[in-house]
Amino acid sequence: MDDGCAWATSTCPEPSAPALAPAPTPAVDAPRSPTDDDSFPALRGFCDGVPAADEAELEERRARAQRRLADAGLGALIVEAGPTLTYLSGARWGQSERPLLLILPASGEPAWVGPAFERQRLEELVGARARLLTWEEDVSPYGRVPAALGELGVTRAARVAVDLDARGFVLEGLREVLGARRVVGGAEVIRSCRMIKGARELARLRRANEATKAALREAAARLRPGMREDELAALVRRAQEEAGLTDIWVLALFGPNAALPHGTRERRALREGELVLVDTGGALHGYRSDITRTWSIGPVEDELRRAWDTVLQAQSAALAALRPGTRCAAVDAAARAVVERAGFGGGFERFTHRLGHGIGLQVHEEPYLRPGNERALAAGMTMSNEPGIYVPGRFGVRLEDIVAVTEDGAEVFGPRAQSLERPFG
Ligand code: ZN
Ligand code: ZN
Repeated sequence: MDDGCAWATSTCPEPSAPALAPAPTPAVDAPRSPTDDDSFPALRGFCDGVPAADEAELEERRARAQRRLADAGLGALIVEAGPTLTYLSGARWGQSERPLLLILPASGEPAWVGPAFERQRLEELVGARARLLTWEEDVSPYGRVPAALGELGVTRAARVAVDLDARGFVLEGLREVLGARRVVGGAEVIRSCRMIKGARELARLRRANEATKAALREAAARLRPGMREDELAALVRRAQEEAGLTDIWVLALFGPNAALPHGTRERRALREGELVLVDTGGALHGYRSDITRTWSIGPVEDELRRAWDTVLQAQSAALAALRPGTRCAAVDAAARAVVERAGFGGGFERFTHRLGHGIGLQVHEEPYLRPGNERALAAGMTMSNEPGIYVPGRFGVRLEDIVAVTEDGAEVFGPRAQSLERPFG
């Protein structure tokens, strides 16, 4: 399995990353903050007209997962609270020591297994007609799973696939009641469904990423020398809220701080001649945006401009390689070769991270565009295209767009960067 956001040098931290904690309140003697004017009326309604998944779409997803289960000779799929549970049911439920399980048999309706004292909330979550089995606090949360499988028509001989995101103790609990030999990994079943986005999922991802780009452009127009990183971050956050996104995270880095893809705890004020790097995103009905732009508000040294131009060329080379059938590693290589040819070093020397990551209900999911990944791209996959050049102590440049693989190439969600002077297209 690929490593995802836990990889120390990956970009685009998950919303819960410590570096993305809310900015502290400015000191009382701070000058009037530009964030005092933090409304963005032009962005209101930006995400209107793109609906959340309805029951018919969720039913289609479950039917697709059931076909995969049947093809693989598996009796059922068990997932716990998390993105795959949301994908299959629309339900969102926080993870705690008391697991909530969705059991999807290879054919027929699913069942839920959850804590008895939460019955009312669970019924609201899954609907009164759903099959819900509960357990009291004095028994194993997994004890009802074998009977539930039986009621769903899954034979005792059938193997059961478990969620690729299930926590270790949940997997152990299921092995105890079902027998270790009966429990298998469900990663391929889940990936093969979630990696290929349907038209309505693409519409959500498209609008979410267009919204983040529009919000970033609006917020950037208010950037002035002397503004601090946390002040710009607050503007970018507010602009995305106004555009209708939720679960917003922002990384705003100035000058040498941008050489660290995950930033620092410093709250630097912007100086003339420095590059500004903002990596940010949010969610529309759970579907994520993830955009990075690097720009300046005045003249910069030639080397910085050359690095910026090189990153744009690397991004263009990757985009030209993105089409069904291309291997993930080859797309990464197309971008990395441009950086090396421009004299910024080969391998991970200055372009320190992989080119991109899949995106959907999670900011980081399959497929990953990195050296060594032989997976072939297919229409409906969505991913970031985000080359960068980082010179420690001096500057960092990264440009990031989200793209969807189409039947004969790739679509970029929202305008591409044009030049250092026109980073928002
Ligand atoms: Zn990213
Ligand atoms: Zn990002």
